[in-house]
Amino acid sequence: MLIVHKFGGTSLGDAECFANVAEIIAEHSHPTDETPSRANVVVVSAMSGVTSQLIAGARAATDCRHTLYRKIKDDLTSRHLDVVKALLNRSPERFDIGSLVENRLYDLERLYRSMAVLGELTVRGCDAVASFGEQLSANILAAVLRERAVPAQAISAAELIVTDDNFGDATPLMDQTRQRLQERIVPLVKGGELPVITGYIAATERGVPTTLGRGGSDYTAAILSAGLDADEVWIWSDVDGILTADPNIVPHARTLAGLSYTEAANLACFGAEVLHPKAIRPVIKNGIPLRILNSFNPTHPGTLINETPGPGRQLLPAIISTTGLAMIAIGSRDDTWTLQMAARALRQLSAAGVDVLMFSQSFSEHGLNLVVHERDQLHCLNALGREFSDGCSLGATDKVATVSVVGVPGWNKTGIVPHAFAALGKHGTRVIAVAQAATEHSVSFCIPHHQVADTVRFLHRELGLEGVE
Ligand code: ASP
Ligand code: MG
Repeated sequence: MLIVHKFGGTSLGDAECFANVAEIIAEHSHPTDETPSRANVVVVSAMSGVTSQLIAGARAATDCRHTLYRKIKDDLTSRHLDVVKALLNRSPERFDIGSLVENRLYDLERLYRSMAVLGELTVRGCDAVASFGEQLSANILAAVLRERAVPAQAISAAELIVTDDNFGDATPLMDQTRQRLQERIVPLVKGGELPVITGYIAATERGVPTTLGRGGSDYTAAILSAGLDADEVWIWSDVDGILTADPNIVPHARTLAGLSYTEAANLACFGAEVLHPKAIRPVIKNGIPLRILNSFNPTHPGTLINETPGPGRQLLPAIISTTGLAMIAIGSRDDTWTLQMAARALRQLSAAGVDVLMFSQSFSEHGLNLVVHERDQLHCLNALGREFSDGCSLGATDKVATVSVVGVPGWNKTGIVPHAFAALGKHGTRVIAVAQAATEHSVSFCIPHHQVADTVRFLHRELGLEGVE
């Protein structure tokens, strides 16, 4: 039985988390009565927040903010070295791993310096910088596992996953990838070794670093499982599966125990953070079951996603909330705004590597509203400012959030949308923008950040999701 385990950034937040993950892996490496032969492949994300910091450093370097990118490099060094010191204190590898961290981050600083000289950040350059985080976490985790007598080996997915050159959001070339996995990983696993593979990153055929898009480590796990003919993929994060609402907001939110691939993909598209929307594609093709589990509560069964979920399951709507967003408004000062200008704005943002989560243009307004991550706000404003230098107005509202209500066909007669609108009206939530799926099974609202928790709790109650058994 071959299982691909993926551990996300929050599961690898600090030394204690690394120790916990090592314990989970060690536990799952022992043969049991049910599965006498067990083999595992591990995929890791960067430590939480590291990828965003790496990219922020590149943007700072391009703007010649030397102190800022050096500080980012120093912070990253001490954060990773803290884990090495805490967990590899008695290991003979302590100095090797410590200098690996220092050397890699020295390379990073050199890359930043050359970006400062060039004064330009391409998506290709951004991928080169973004790939450092996973390499550090994979090397550290593999050493921590070896310290615990698990024969682990860190491997960069740049040597395994071959992609096209669509930097920032590359697509794997599955035939070449499969061949490399069969040649390189299968013999290792057969020989009893445990590969610890970097998530998120890959390379073109010529070896130029690419990434699979933010949050792409889930996708890595799915690609590896397909290329290795794995039996299951287990995505470990910090919540008990896919739930009816964020458990940090609604502590008694319910876990959706079983979902079909299509249902899970739909929830992932609305921003269910525990699963990247693309991760479903490779597993559907090969019919590989996927589980979402909690590394902080490892005995919870979580959510099982497969072709035909168990008949007894209860299908409930889910509320998905995303915070840390900003609303960007771009428009003309007169009535000269055209659809071509909207297209130009979106094209520009795509080239700048900015994810646009939602956008809207009303009949009467001469402009476009865009919802982006707060971490991209400045970069987004700069990119639009360069493209629309005169005659345009550009503004931002930070501290906004999105709340999506994703229903299921046949959940109740009128569908989810009128219920969601009624609940928000009753609660008095200020709605900044709305986007609705053509299927009428789901709707997304952009609302002020400070109203998210109350609104989600209220919606959860109004939709009858409390205490359903
Ligand atoms: N580290 C990458 C990111 O933060 C990929 C991932 O965590 O899945 O986007
Ligand atoms: Mg994720």
